[in-house]
Amino acid sequence: MPIDPKFQKNRKKVGKEEGITIWGPVDPPETLGIRGTYVAVDWDLCTGCGICLKVCPQQLFDWMEASSHPTSEKKAFPVRETECGQCYLCETKCPVQAIRIIYPGLTGWLNWLAWLTIPLLFTQLVGGSIYGVLFGPMLGLQAPFYAGWVVLVLGFLFVLSSLIYFSKRGELVEGRGIMYTTVVVESGTYGIVRHPQFLGVVLMACASILVSQYWLFVLIGVPLIVSMFKWIQLAEENLIAKFGDDYRRYMRKVPRINLFQGILRLVKRRREN
Ligand code: SF4
Ligand code: SF4
Repeated sequence: MPIDPKFQKNRKKVGKEEGITIWGPVDPPETLGIRGTYVAVDWDLCTGCGICLKVCPQQLFDWMEASSHPTSEKKAFPVRETECGQCYLCETKCPVQAIRIIYPGLTGWLNWLAWLTIPLLFTQLVGGSIYGVLFGPMLGLQAPFYAGWVVLVLGFLFVLSSLIYFSKRGELVEGRGIMYTTVVVESGTYGIVRHPQFLGVVLMACASILVSQYWLFVLIGVPLIVSMFKWIQLAEENLIAKFGDDYRRYMRKVPRINLFQGILRLVKRRREN
């Protein structure tokens, strides 16, 4: 049986070791519990094979003695768990599924910004489009109105493509969501821009302004578009930590969300090949 994915809910904290939380029950030498919160290792499953120590690019595991434990006398200890780059190598390679990687989540004002962004984005995208359909463009400008619908479809296709390529090419962690990729995805729209999902959202937010031409959707849309660049910056920091040099190489090849630059570079690469 693998490590309990809901161990934070189902188990109690019973202490700390070198600053790392221990989740009970603990009754040595037979029962040792789970070590770690964001890189959690079930010591009652760990066989001490050493694979996680070998594969972790951050080298955040150390050995710890576990004398007389039935499965092994040494255990993988996630001593520097806060340095985890979320690459999932240890979780996917552990032969007894003793490891669970938990995303630490956003904290402070970024957490608030995320909660605020979702309903505002929904209001902006759906509200602007419905307004356009029901009342037409408020300023009566027909060319931007029709262009807005084209941009809206384009934006939607970019978002959709990111989901398709993540699930097809991302070598997802089994039993996890679509964002749990284990390799850098570089094909399809990811060969044009590094963040087709963010580009799609930016395009749809612009489209909502164009089709409605209503001041309220400009007021909501502009800060939303600006905030997307903060989310992109955060995503890139995580991706560099997760994929290291592979992602840095990809960054040199493909632009962030500049569609025109991305198409030009793609054409150039295709010609060179
Ligand atoms: S890969 Fe799994 S079984 Fe092997 S040492 Fe790491 S946690 Fe233990
Ligand atoms: S997910 Fe990657 S970085 Fe994090 S502990 Fe496992 S191997 Fe190391």
